[in-house]
Amino acid sequence: MNKWEKNVRKVVPYVPGEQPDNINIIKLNTNENPYPPSENVLKAISEIDYNNLRLYPDPTCNILVKAIAEYYNISDNQVFTGIGSDDVLAMAFLTFFNSDKPILFPDITYSFYDVWAELFGIPYLTPELDNNFFINPEDYKKENGGIIFPNPNAPTGLYQPLSTIEDIVKYNSDVIVIIDEAYIDFGGESAIKLIDKYDNLLIVQTFSKSRSMAGMRIGFAIGSPILIKYLNDAKYSFNSYTMNQTALNLGAACIKDKAHFNKTVKKIIDTREMTKKQLAKIGFSFPDSMANFIFARHKDIPAKELFLALKQNNIFVRYFDKPRINNFLRITIGTDEEMNTMINFLKNYINKLSVRQSLI
Ligand code: PMP
Repeated sequence: MNKWEKNVRKVVPYVPGEQPDNINIIKLNTNENPYPPSENVLKAISEIDYNNLRLYPDPTCNILVKAIAEYYNISDNQVFTGIGSDDVLAMAFLTFFNSDKPILFPDITYSFYDVWAELFGIPYLTPELDNNFFINPEDYKKENGGIIFPNPNAPTGLYQPLSTIEDIVKYNSDVIVIIDEAYIDFGGESAIKLIDKYDNLLIVQTFSKSRSMAGMRIGFAIGSPILIKYLNDAKYSFNSYTMNQTALNLGAACIKDKAHFNKTVKKIIDTREMTKKQLAKIGFSFPDSMANFIFARHKDIPAKELFLALKQNNIFVRYFDKPRINNFLRITIGTDEEMNTMINFLKNYINKLSVRQSLI
């Protein structure tokens, strides 16, 4: 070790899902949307003035903030935007989790939370989900420095009703409660309707999933004006120009097309329900996902084996080699055609295996 290395901040980074060069794969590993974004976005791309790239973007992100506020029928000062919800969440950890008491999030959840907590030196505890992967609200009624969890949760896909969220937010009026709603549009009811009632509640959402814009990196938070002010203070103390002007313009164009959003979200929900039925028929079980993925395990075959077999056949899904979940595959919902290809592959694989075993 070099002498100077003892002064280096050392972190164990988050590992994002693979983004392979090969375009001939069926990519069901990072919860992207299989459909392109609204054609409004295409039009907005054609209107980009390349001469304006000389200029810094609008640091207030006004065009996007306004479009989001209009969509949700709230005020501009209740909206904060950032470079994907990862950026928004990181900023929220930095801003709101500044207590000596531990923050709380479930043991099985989005694996970026502990990375941010470690990076910022935030103490944390991870109450266990129950055996069916649900949160026990009582676990979140202990002394804490803040709370965060996704709803629906990742990677389980399980949605907790708004009454549970409200119960937790109400009880914890002395800390900030962040609900990460990256997957809320695929069947859950957003807690946005609670923000006027609870000024300690922050909702974080993204354009990466239901709005087909993962590549543009657009995320946002919705909460009371005072929370949004604190977030902006932290942002301007870190980097004034977070979002680029192209992302701001394309995001604003995207959110205005409600019809496209409704159509594609419905298709994904229909495909998810079809996939659940097919997977159950070939021996898989899974929590009843309300997200754009299914977290499934097979009754006989280890998840890791299936993960590798699928990958060898150019079908990418996500596998987490972690306690309690290392026998599950997280399968993103693609098009009907993609899901049928995957299901047929699994069917054949499982059949061949059982034929081989019956010969032994
Ligand atoms: N929260 C959860 C629960 C997620 O699964 C993801 C996707 N990895 C994110 C936040 C971040 O998504 P993005 O930065 O693309 O908005």
